Amino acid sequence: MSLPCLDESIRPRKMQSASLPRGVEAVRCWCGDVCKVKEVTDFSDWLGMKFSMCANYESDPPESISAYIRPLSPPPVCMYYRWIDTEMPDWTVTEIRERGRRAWASLDLEECREKTEIEDKAEQKKEWEDYCVEQRAFIDEMKRKNQEEKLRLEEV
Ligand SMILES: [Zn+2]
Repeated sequence: MSLPCLDESIRPRKMQSASLPRGVEAVRCWCGDVCKVKEVTDFSDWLGMKFSMCANYESDPPESISAYIRPLSPPPVCMYYRWIDTEMPDWTVTEIRERGRRAWASLDLEECREKTEIEDKAEQKKEWEDYCVEQRAFIDEMKRKNQEEKLRLEEV
């Protein structure tokens, strides 16, 4: 897929440092600093695509998990970023397919594990029920014996 150079609606969230591809000149952002080169690591439609990003950009290192714990951080000085790649590299196609396969595999595993757990629970429940029945029978037996004993004593 191709992208416009500066699309505010598409802002990569996960990224890693990358090197500037051959033949591409480093750009300067609105701060006047030379931009850092980043590569998208987010599992998205932009995986593996490189872009230039403001060296002072606030989300580097990546944002903390909760947006609520950083309300006091200053607003970004400059949100500049510019795509270097306009298409996803070839390796991402393989990577995405592979991740999809792994996701399905782990899903199968999860389902299998859940099923085993349910079966285990059913087994435990059955054991407990059997135990209760045994206990019940034992108590009934005791009562019956007590009753017999009582009757025997009364007869005497
Ligand atoms: Zn900047």
